[in-house]
Amino acid sequence: MNDNEKLAELLFPNITKTPEDYENIYPERGLSEGARVSRFAPSPTGFLHLGGLFASMISQLTTKATDDGVFFLRIEDTDKKREIDDGVSAIIKGLDEFGIVPDEGVMGFEKESGAYGPYQQSKRKDVYQAIAKNLVKQGMAYPCFCSEEELNEIRAEQEKAGTDIQGYFGEWARCRNLTFDEQKAKIEAGCPYTLRLRSMGSADNRIKFEDMIKGKIEMPENIQDVVLLKTDGIPTYHFAHAVDDHFMRTTHVVRGDEWISSVPLHIQLFKACGYRVPKYAHISPIMKEDNGGKRKLSKRKDPEASVSFYTESGYPKESVIEYLLTIANSNFEDWRKANKDAPQSAFPFNLKKMSSSGALFDLNKLNDVSKNVISVMTAEQVYDKAVKWAQAFDEELYKLLTADEAKAKGIFAIDRGTAKPRKDIAKWDEIKDYVSFFYNELYTPCYELPENIAKEDAKEILEAYLNVFDANDDKDTWFEKIKALCEPLGFTPNVKEYKKNPEAFKGHVGDVSTIIRLAITSRKNTPDLHSIIALLGNEEVKSRIEKAINEYK
Ligand code: GLU
Repeated sequence: MNDNEKLAELLFPNITKTPEDYENIYPERGLSEGARVSRFAPSPTGFLHLGGLFASMISQLTTKATDDGVFFLRIEDTDKKREIDDGVSAIIKGLDEFGIVPDEGVMGFEKESGAYGPYQQSKRKDVYQAIAKNLVKQGMAYPCFCSEEELNEIRAEQEKAGTDIQGYFGEWARCRNLTFDEQKAKIEAGCPYTLRLRSMGSADNRIKFEDMIKGKIEMPENIQDVVLLKTDGIPTYHFAHAVDDHFMRTTHVVRGDEWISSVPLHIQLFKACGYRVPKYAHISPIMKEDNGGKRKLSKRKDPEASVSFYTESGYPKESVIEYLLTIANSNFEDWRKANKDAPQSAFPFNLKKMSSSGALFDLNKLNDVSKNVISVMTAEQVYDKAVKWAQAFDEELYKLLTADEAKAKGIFAIDRGTAKPRKDIAKWDEIKDYVSFFYNELYTPCYELPENIAKEDAKEILEAYLNVFDANDDKDTWFEKIKALCEPLGFTPNVKEYKKNPEAFKGHVGDVSTIIRLAITSRKNTPDLHSIIALLGNEEVKSRIEKAINEYK
């Protein structure tokens, strides 16, 4: 045994499996040519950021663009400081609420599926240690006994010396060249140590790689002897992810571009372990306009940074995904115009069409997108989704909608399923206001008239209407009756005629319907009034009109 081999045994006496064993445990996936394997690999912070949802959507789409692509969820929980109790469930729930279901990986609390697990890094200690042991054997990793103070000392010395680069490398790396006997003595004395990479990089070299979103990138090679295993034997993110992406057979690493600066290190780690380097696609962060400038959407400052914001406001998942697709690929909107009814999954997503600078988040745009999405849903779909939302977030609304399902569905059916459906609902928390005049529990009448209409005229119109209306009339009969009210009361049923000679009339049929609409709904603008009257029924309409007449007396 040479010194490296002896050191490896000394450091990892209980690790018996070799990298080859793991190659057999996690064999190549044998997928069809070109199939992509990608992942979402969050830390369990108990919070799913919109950027995380975006990244996982992109990652999943990247794999689904190929025949038997695989998208998996790995939980990177090696940093105990960032972890919160059951942070995993929050992430899975967050993804699930937006329809992002991984093919394999962590599926729930203590629940996994797939042959490449465990998919939670805290459960893979032995794998990392086996690979680390092998690196030690090959002289590519070594124990470092430097304490926090010593590391600070090195930093201070570097600052004093004015070195270009700071950190643990080259001659500054005090433990890099200890002899085996020195290492052995410290280990046997119980000195705590980390395991560091013996970097093979040089400050004179640059590495080049092609990022699928950002294009060609060139950066200085890594020269730092980074920590692979912490003093407790737990790997750092850098080391763990390289081992995992190799053994989980990841072909494409899709993630936030805050990791670009780590790519030189990552490439070096893959190479040190003898692994094929995956392809990279680094996503720019979602930005927000702030005081005329742009900044990253922030977990601390922006409620809309958390996906729970969308769930709580009641944006349907289809709307959020549709919006994220518009910011993911610039050609999505044109595709949507040409393919109005196509499912989102039919969109030919292309990583190369992603913005390399970072999309601007726009809540108004999301609302518009969502109004479109909701406008083409059936009344049944709107009912089911709104009820599900209300059940969680608005008990009063839930009770009203479910107390009379047919009525609620009737409300949602108004002006729906036509060539030009109304686009007035963006999210379910707007429903209560939208339906309020259908439910006396929610309805507060308001009898304010438009300026051009006198109370006296309003009263006369309503009195006349009260005599003729019938909630069971078909639409034509209903409208004929309204037109017939016009002339005797000084209005005209003909809008053109009114425009030609406005002095001759008090108003036109539009004003007459506005007065009726206001009396029944207290709004100038509503969906089809005939349908509203039919739904409210004779008694309720009659009573509302009578109350309005009283107000105008
Ligand atoms: N765990 C890392 C994070 O929290 C994942 C980075 C990667 O995808 O490689 O963002």
